[in-house]
Formats: sequence, C-alpha cells, structure tokens
Amino acid sequence: MRDAHLDILYRGPLASCNYACPYCPFAKRRDSRETLRRDAAQLARFVDWAGAQTRRTLGILFTPWGEALIRPAYRRATARLSRMPHIRRVAAQTNLSWPTGWLDGCDPTRIAFWCTFHPGETSLDRFLGRCVELDARGISYSVGLVGKREHLAALAALRQRLRPEIYLWVNAYRDEGQNYYRPDDLERLRAVDPLFDLNRTGIRSRGRACATGESVVSVDGDGEVRRCHVVPARIGNLYDPDFDTALRPRPCPLAQCRCHIGYAHMPHLGFREIFGDGLLERALPDSTVAANAVRRKGLERGRSDASLA
Ligand code: SF4
Ligand code: SF4
Repeated sequence: MRDAHLDILYRGPLASCNYACPYCPFAKRRDSRETLRRDAAQLARFVDWAGAQTRRTLGILFTPWGEALIRPAYRRATARLSRMPHIRRVAAQTNLSWPTGWLDGCDPTRIAFWCTFHPGETSLDRFLGRCVELDARGISYSVGLVGKREHLAALAALRQRLRPEIYLWVNAYRDEGQNYYRPDDLERLRAVDPLFDLNRTGIRSRGRACATGESVVSVDGDGEVRRCHVVPARIGNLYDPDFDTALRPRPCPLAQCRCHIGYAHMPHLGFREIFGDGLLERALPDSTVAANAVRRKGLERGRSDASLA
C-alpha cells in the first residue's frame, strides 16, 4: 500500500440540477431515468469499494456536475460513508436546497459541506436557515458564491449574518474577461475572502509539485482515475487490484491551476496546514488565527504566484 490516506474527488455521470443559475450549463437540466439508474449503481459500487479499504483512511468529496444531494442515493451514500471508521471525511459540493432530516443518520463529525449560495435561486433567509441546521448538528461547512458584480450586496449580507468563523469564499467570475472587476469591487471582494486573488488570477503550476495523482485523485463513475478534474490523462482504474501502483508524485503538466479544488493540493501554498481537517469542504478551522494565516498567505501568494495579476 503506497499511502496511508487517500483523498478522492468523486464525480459520477449525474449532471442535473433543481436550480437555474444563469452562469451554469447544468441549470434545470434533467437526467434521463437510465442515467440516474447508472449513476446510483456506480455510486453504490464506489461506496462498497470505500467500505472495503480498511487498511487506509479515506477522504471523499462529491463534486457533481449538478446537484447530487437532492437524490436519495447520494444521501444514503453520504450517511453510510460517514459511519465508516476509516473515512475521515465525506463532503459534498451542494446548493443546500434539500431538507435536512437525513443528516440525523450521519456521523456529524465526519460529514461536511461546500455550500454555494446562488442569489436569484433561493432567498438568503432560506439558505441561512439551512446553515443554522448544520450548526445545530455541529457539521463543518464553508459558504461561498460566484463573484458576479451584482452579487456583491448578497456577499455583504452573507458576511454579516453568517457566524464569523465560517469561511466565506468567492469564486471569480471569468466569463467577461480580466477587466470585469472595478478596483472598488476588488477591495470589497478581498475584504471578505483573503484568497480571492488566488482564485481570480490562478496559480502558475507547470512543473510544480501537486499532491494530485499521489494522495488525491479524481474518480468518475466507471472508476476511471485522473489526477485531478482538469488534467485529462487517465492514470488507472480504482477497481483494479493493483491500482495503488499508479499513485506517485507528478509535477503539474498545465500552465495554470485556476480552481481551489485543484491548487488546494499544491504543497507550496500550505493549504493543507491552514485548512486542516476542513480542506475538502474548503472550511477553515474555527479560529481567527487560521483566518489571519490565510489572509497573510493570500496577500503573499497574490504577489508571488498569481499568474495573470
Ligand atoms: S446550483 Fe450549481 S449545478 Fe445547479 S444550476 Fe446552480 S451552479 Fe449549476
Ligand atoms: S496544480 Fe491544478 S491543474 Fe495541476 S495537477 Fe494539480 S490540481 Fe491539476
């Protein structure tokens, strides 16, 4: 066995969503019954595989194209994984639109959520009500949104009403080019998310160390393994008995890494140390010390690593 711990970013064929965000290709898309059946069967196989991996610990992040947790199969899978002693974390990217009763069947210390607020698709009160339900269960989560300029008021309201310890991230809106943000927009965005500039500019990554392909992998419904979601080369199949031989250090082959889900695994950025147990769900530990460390790191890296600034 090569590594005592493996983080897996899982993305099955599901590509549908109950929301209609104008910036998303999966808005209100529906999957066929056959796709949902195949997705659920592949998910069940993955959960069985994870359950059998008792000689190592696992972290799992569901990163669906659409919204997975409106589907009972994903709720069952998440609950089951959270109760397995060797699963350190089972997290999911989600719009938090679902009823929360099923969380009572989970181990709250091991489930976590990467929650995105989508103004226009739900109200702030409704979204924050779901966050309160996570808080009541002691579940770790982060909150963020797509940084469109018209979302700045929602961002300020979120920051005001979320618990101060909750990390509020902003994903840069890139569809309208590099001059989209005005200087005062950037100040407002940086004041909320000290790491915003890293996301806006991306990281120069070619040839640099990245833990993906060694202790972090991206897996699809067929078990096909790639190092991360954006490097297309296949490195193996999760269900091959000798799959572990595919895990080894590999420098990044791409010029730029532009998503938190990727550059979070570049050791020189120190995210694993700063985010700690919350790395998969993008949540900072409940401490202002960590928040200040991220702020400093953001400012330092914004100067030294940003590729387009
Ligand atoms: S909630 Fe997410 S997946 Fe659904 S439409 Fe909006 S951005 Fe797309
Ligand atoms: S740096 Fe980003 S793009 Fe490069 S291998 Fe790592 S996650 Fe993938």
